[in-house]
Amino acid sequence: MLDACYTASAVQTAVDLANTLRPVKGEDALETVEQLRDFLADHPAGNPQRTGLRQLTRADLAEVRAVRETVREVLERASADPGEAAALLNDGLRHSRATPVLRHEDDRWRTEVTSDTDRCAAHLAATTLSALASVIATLGPTRLGVCAGPTCRATFVDLSRNGSKQYCTRTCAHRASVAAYRSRRSAR
Ligand SMILES: [Zn+2]
Repeated sequence: MLDACYTASAVQTAVDLANTLRPVKGEDALETVEQLRDFLADHPAGNPQRTGLRQLTRADLAEVRAVRETVREVLERASADPGEAAALLNDGLRHSRATPVLRHEDDRWRTEVTSDTDRCAAHLAATTLSALASVIATLGPTRLGVCAGPTCRATFVDLSRNGSKQYCTRTCAHRASVAAYRSRRSAR
């Protein structure tokens, strides 16, 4: 059942969570409780029950930052070391007490994975890690990756048909092709 239950919004939530950290620039967009509240408001898939949004604390922030570390590690490692990524995913899912549930919404039935705790970080972990696990199970571990842009290192998940994504965005792909063109020209 888990195989078919990732949604694009849950996958995007995982990627956006990992990318709140910009390792090359040293920027971190998840340093305050306020930033965490904004992130969760922008990513309802990460917390479908809106658990504890009002009373988010520093403890929630610390827990979500730990979840981010796991999500980022999975995205970075899956392609080269899928066994290690699987171990991280399984640990994280167990830790978040991930639970599949069946819901009836907008006239159709769908499954989703949530947490049976009331911790917002556990909901975020259950949603994002199960989405990444499902992508690996359905499309393969090489669909998870890190942008090839040397000054970027943002993570991505490639849900495209051919699965040949190398850059996080068109902007990064364009920048890389311009740089390659310039270096070819100066080599002449
Ligand atoms: Zn990039």
